[in-house]
This record gives sequence, structure tokens and C-alpha cells, in this order.
Amino acid sequence: MEVFYPGYYKDFVCIAGACPDSCCKEWSVDVDDDAAAFYRNLPGALGDRLRQVLQDTEDGTIMVIEDGRCPMWRQDGLCRIQAELGHDALCKTCREFPRLTHDYGDFLELGLELSCPEAARIILNSADWEMVCESVPGGEAGDYNGEVMEILRRSRKEFLDFLGATSLPFPEILAVLLLYTHEVQAELDGGKMAVLDADACLEDARRFAKDGDIRPLQDFFLELEILTPQWKNRLEAKAVAPCWDDRYKALLGYFIGRYWLQAVSDFDVLCRAKFAITACLLIGYLGGDLLETAQLFSKEIENDPDNVEAILDGAYTAPALTDLALLGLML
Ligand code: SF4
Repeated sequence: MEVFYPGYYKDFVCIAGACPDSCCKEWSVDVDDDAAAFYRNLPGALGDRLRQVLQDTEDGTIMVIEDGRCPMWRQDGLCRIQAELGHDALCKTCREFPRLTHDYGDFLELGLELSCPEAARIILNSADWEMVCESVPGGEAGDYNGEVMEILRRSRKEFLDFLGATSLPFPEILAVLLLYTHEVQAELDGGKMAVLDADACLEDARRFAKDGDIRPLQDFFLELEILTPQWKNRLEAKAVAPCWDDRYKALLGYFIGRYWLQAVSDFDVLCRAKFAITACLLIGYLGGDLLETAQLFSKEIENDPDNVEAILDGAYTAPALTDLALLGLML
């Protein structure tokens, strides 16, 4: 079986106590059944504490946060379970975070989540977002439409190759992506094969672009689920003129790498490209330290499936996410 991952994937090591944010803040951790059973039968003080903080919900067992933190979080920034029992005693969520696995049956895609500050640092500072392929034993038949997957893999590679080689200003790269993805979507819908012609895409984009306004996009995000007051404040504040440095290319490479192939589930790559474009535009216009803003975006949006779904749906219905509204913010 083939395993694909971005070139930076293996650079990640958790910085634990030195982490400026920590995955142990703000959200309740989903605890898998095996770990929940193990914790509930654990003798001693740690077992007593775990029995207090585990809670069964209709979606499974969670570790309830206390004072905005995981109850297993210690003052030194380390996890009590890991410190007392070792890494293998962690539940699946904590063992794997921030590593992502997408299993397509006959191949796997791995990645890192931007919501971890250390992963975000690696992602944004790496120009190595193209996918590496490794062969490992195992695998089964692919559970997807082969023709659609073929189009998605070819078009993702074509766009990532372009992203790595182009010297266009970043907003123009986003415009090329939007127009190119329309062609890819047309191919998925039975049209002719999409070819990435950046000049032609830009010419079309310039014909349609009108003056843009970021406020409606900020208001759209204010309507979604919000985890932290910090995110609400950022969305309510006045936007800034973005400073599009090369790290935005890495950010876009991350979003494309993570979401593009998932279109095999519903044959809709356009809404995923618009998710990536919207994310880059919002992060740019919110300003501040790019790493912190991108990490906060991911924590608030990518880690909340309802928010991701709302944006994918909004790609076709929300006035702030129309092609014209987005092009106005790019050109
Ligand atoms: S957020 Fe990332 S670096 Fe920080 S503690 Fe969690 S896994 Fe480690």
C-alpha cells in the first residue's frame, strides 16, 4: 500500500511543556472505548481522578475540561497520564494529535494539524509541502470512484507544482486557484480535461473582479460556532492590509494537501478550494502574527466539523463566499 505525506510530516515532535498554547486547552477530549475502560479500572489516585472527569455522552466518552483545561494537565505543562503511565497509556486522540490520517483503503494520506502551534510552525516554515510517497505492507481495495480520484490526484499535483514554481503575488495565486478549480470541477462533472493556464485564469479573474470588502467575510465567521473569546475579538476587530509573504504559499499548500482529495466523497472540489481560499484570505486580513492567527483559525474552524461543513455549504449559498466577493479581495 502507498502512504502519502507532506515532506515536512516527519519533522514534528511535541514540545510539551514549552508549548505556547497546548492541545489540552479549551476543548473536551474524545476518549476511545479501550482507553475509557482502562482508565475506569485504574487503581490509585490517578484512577480515582479519571473516574471523576470521564463523562459518557451520546457521541461517546469525553474528558470534561475544568477551568478551560484538560483535568490531566499539570502546572508544568505536561500530561499527568503520560507522566505517570507513559505515552502508550494516552487515549487515541492524544496519542495521535496533531497527526492526521485519511484512509482511502488502498492508500493512506498523512498530515499534521495546523491547530498545534509546533505543527503550525513546521507547516508555515516549510517549502516542502509536496507529497512524498512511501510503500508499506498491507491495504485493501480502494473504496472510491477510481476515475474521480485520478482527476483529483492529477489536478492536485498540477496545482501544487504550480504553487511551488510560481513567483506571482499570493492574491493572484488564489485567483488562479479559483479559476482553475472551476475547470477541474467541470472535468469532474463530465467536461473536458482541466489544464492549468495561469495567464488565462488571471485574465478571466480580472474581468470579473470588483472592489472587495472583508467585513462580510468576518461577519460570516462570526455566525459560526466560536470556541474562544480571543477568536470573537479578532473577527470583530477592523481588518488590516495583509502582508502576503511566502509563508502563505505554505499555508495554501497545507489546505490543498489536506482537503483536495476528500472531494472523492461527493465529487465537489470547488467548495474545498473555496474553503482554502477563504481561510487564506481571512487569516491574511485578520493580521497579527501569522502563526498565531493560522493556528487559532484551525483550532476554531478545522477542529469543529460543524464549522467546516458550514463553510463548504456556504461556498454556494453565502454572499460573502461568492466568486465575485472572493475575487474582490484578491485583485
Ligand atoms: S499542541 Fe502540539 S506541541 Fe502543544 S502540547 Fe499539543 S501536541 Fe504538543
